[in-house]
Amino acid sequence: YVSTANPHPSYPTLEGRLKTETCVIGGGLSGLCTALPLAENGHDVIVLEAARIGFGASGRSGGQVISDFACGMEEIEKQVGLEQAQWFWQQSLQAVELVDSRIQKHNIQCDWQRGYAT
Ligand SMILES: Cc1cc2nc3c(=O)[nH]c(=O)nc-3n(C[C@H](O)[C@H](O)[C@H](O)COP(=O)(O)OP(=O)(O)OC[C@H]3O[C@@H](n4cnc5c(N)ncnc54)[C@H](O)[C@@H]3O)c2cc1C
Repeated sequence: YVSTANPHPSYPTLEGRLKTETCVIGGGLSGLCTALPLAENGHDVIVLEAARIGFGASGRSGGQVISDFACGMEEIEKQVGLEQAQWFWQQSLQAVELVDSRIQKHNIQCDWQRGYAT
């Protein structure tokens, strides 16, 4: 993955003390998806990453953006019922759209293509 990755910017090392409204620990997908909407809505956010952005699983995944859930929709329906399962399914569809719109909005150079392989 590293040898085919697009160049990524480097960010400053934390020095001294900083004051912020929200400090997000970890610059993987979870941390960045927490920090970004907060920042977009005018909150003061700092992301603290121990290594580099995308250092963990997020920088080593297959990179596929897929609706659905790892356990499958049958399992979700078994646990929460049909109506809630349909809501979960819609959320997973919206998640793909959210990734797409963020890539466009922030002009992220990640060779984005829709679809997935099984
Ligand atoms: C081989 C593989 C393939 C995958 N393929 C896919 C796929 O195709 N599609 C998909 O949707 N998902 C895939 N996944 C799952 C997906 O990658 C993860 O669910 C997701 O990246 C998890 O993101 P995260 O932010 O929770 O964790 P991470 O990406 O691991 O981020 C955690 C970050 O926190 C930092 N950190 C940890 N402790 C500290 C600390 N004390 N202080 C500061 N920073 C700290 C780490 O350095 C790291 O950067 C795959 C996972 C793997 C391992």
